[in-house]
Amino acid sequence: MSSIHLATSRQQAVQEINARIPVKMKSDQEGYSTLKISDFFGVHTLDMPKLKAKLSKDIYQRLIASNESGKKLELEVANAVATAAKEWAIEKGVTHFCHWFQPMTGSTAEKHDAFLSFDDKGRPVEKLTGAQLIQSEPDASSFPSGGMRTTFEARGYTAWDPTSPIFIMESTNTKTLCIPSAFISYHGDALDEKTVLMRSNEALSSEACELLKLLGDQDVKRIQVSLGTEQEYFLIDRAFYSLRPDLVMCGRTLTGTQPPRGQQMEDHYFGTISSRVLAFMGEVEFELYKLGVPVKTRHNEVAPHQFETAPIFEEANRAIDHNQLTMELLRKVARKHHFECLLHEKPFALLNGSGKHCNWSMQVNSKNPELDGSNLLDPGQTPQQNLRFLLFLGSVLKAVQKHSGLLRAGIASCANDHRLGGNEAPPAIISVFLGELLSGILDRLESGVSTQDRHENVMIELGVSNLPRVAKDNTDRNRTSPFAFTGNKFEFRAVGSSASPAIPIAFLNAAVAEALQEVRISLSEKMKQHKTRDGAILELLKELARDTRGIRFEGNGYSEEWKKEAAHRGLPALAKTPEALAQLLAPHSRKLLLDMKVFSEAELQSRFNVRIERYIKQVMIEAESLIEIVSTSILPSAYEFRAGLVGTIESAKKMSYLAPEEKVFKEVGDLIEALLSRKEQLQTLLGRAHSIKSEPEVAHFLSRDVFSQMETVREQCDQLERLLPDAVWPLPKYREMLFLS
Ligand code: ADP
Ligand code: MG
Repeated sequence: MSSIHLATSRQQAVQEINARIPVKMKSDQEGYSTLKISDFFGVHTLDMPKLKAKLSKDIYQRLIASNESGKKLELEVANAVATAAKEWAIEKGVTHFCHWFQPMTGSTAEKHDAFLSFDDKGRPVEKLTGAQLIQSEPDASSFPSGGMRTTFEARGYTAWDPTSPIFIMESTNTKTLCIPSAFISYHGDALDEKTVLMRSNEALSSEACELLKLLGDQDVKRIQVSLGTEQEYFLIDRAFYSLRPDLVMCGRTLTGTQPPRGQQMEDHYFGTISSRVLAFMGEVEFELYKLGVPVKTRHNEVAPHQFETAPIFEEANRAIDHNQLTMELLRKVARKHHFECLLHEKPFALLNGSGKHCNWSMQVNSKNPELDGSNLLDPGQTPQQNLRFLLFLGSVLKAVQKHSGLLRAGIASCANDHRLGGNEAPPAIISVFLGELLSGILDRLESGVSTQDRHENVMIELGVSNLPRVAKDNTDRNRTSPFAFTGNKFEFRAVGSSASPAIPIAFLNAAVAEALQEVRISLSEKMKQHKTRDGAILELLKELARDTRGIRFEGNGYSEEWKKEAAHRGLPALAKTPEALAQLLAPHSRKLLLDMKVFSEAELQSRFNVRIERYIKQVMIEAESLIEIVSTSILPSAYEFRAGLVGTIESAKKMSYLAPEEKVFKEVGDLIEALLSRKEQLQTLLGRAHSIKSEPEVAHFLSRDVFSQMETVREQCDQLERLLPDAVWPLPKYREMLFLS
């Protein structure tokens, strides 16, 4: 009777969902509803202005100095900050603190300790020391290390990152002070994503400053990488979610036939947000504002039940912490609203997947007030600024051209493989879209032909007053590009929705740092030969335009012709994670990552190991989940349905007529046979995978043989779904999950 029971659960879920109303948040009662966002923005973060107010002038200045120099904090300063942090937190009802860090699992980790301690008279008191603030020692042996740390050296350290503000995480019945931290091994190897990102920021900043100095800006102090992450996600009602073992185990549906209506009506994108979803979004944003996360935009995405939230861009390290908090709160708040938030890159076959468009640019920090805060990717007001702009733009192109394989590796995951190259998702081939205007400028720089562009305000002249003028913010849109220039920033669109942007951005930073270094060396050579600096720059731009032709693509990234064209250009087409990850160890990637001090040799190898291992585990979990769903849900329903036909068919035979059910009986029987045999083949393949010794080979085998076999199993399941009566089908259908709310 199991399937009858399950079908009933499915129908119960539908009933439950039909009765749902928007969930009000507690803050309505607390009086927040009358406040402006700016009244409570960041109330749960201990930012620098708040610290300044709480610390003596001397201590505060030493804190700033240590932040700027990157030197270790003196204990006296740490103690003072710890006391200030504790007092601030206690006032807000916080009882515990934790170091909050980002191990190589793609998410965050935390271990809480109470402030509770005893004074010398044995009385209970609240305490947080400078040492506790700066450093903690979680047992690192249960976090991935990729073989870098053996168990007898299980110690790892988390170290406070003072550049990202301390914050309070509220949960039902608890408030915890979270100290954003890096996570490193006993020997100082990075065991996390934050450390890697911070190193790459350093590399980029230092190379960009060198180039700017050569261009004549001696006052430049630092370059800040800016990042704005557009986060896409799906919301599925919990009642359906909990009946889908595949969503629970893998975050994506492993079976499910397409409903007659998918996203073809194009009615969801920017459509009116349903009141239930809006209530959810409002609460997420409310929580994020308290944490100082500047969420700005919310809207429906293209697929049904798909949405997006985007913040105002921030310094990359902070933006990455904030994106982690956003993902965490999306998941947490969703449950209060009886939703499950799916951050997976491809929860539903044939519908759009979810990405995290990473908007990236470089900002100048200079003693010169005219340059301070300017964006190196912003076409400027003056010809000089435009030369600088084109030089930095060209350097990014050069970086992507040389390291497109590494950038592909940075975004590689089992989940993102399903998305890349699918419905309205960027292809797995990395190319850059610049838009007609900038492409035209580069073409003319390369050919040296001076023409009046049809855009009136743009002119390139290579004569005496030979400086290009670039009009602002008139880039067109190309949704099919994995890496697009959008006005004054690049948008790395191929990053997956569930991924931390830390590694993709770290690789991008490193590649650009290397390109800037090469550009500077080449420019200083040319400056020795040329009479003028501008002449040298123009010659270099011409070379950059020529050398980056291969990576520039303005056409349709989804088309078959592009695949052929890209192959012709020699661009790597790395459809699957194992081949993409192999790029991590390619000689030019290795050289880049080591030269720019983003990884040590041991760290690089360990990253590769961790990523391959994760991939293998994910595919194995998916394959085993599929087998289980087939064996324990789908086949039993099919058996039962078929058995139920026997009586009718037999009675008809006795009365010498042919029951129409006999045809269905045979059809179901055939599908059952086929499904059984395909499932067994899948099991055989998994067995074979277990017998392969080398992990990269296991991964390759899974990405080819196991995935395609999973697809054939799915085909049979989907055919059964189309044949079996609705009432006996055990799993919530696409139609229900995506259209009921
Ligand atoms: P679009 O609609 O063109 O994608 P939006 O203005 O909506 O662009 O911005 C998308 C994201 O890009 C937002 O998070 C925004 O803050 C961010 N962004 C805007 N300008 C920059 C910049 N110069 N550098 C980095 N991110 C930026
Ligand atoms: Mg965008």
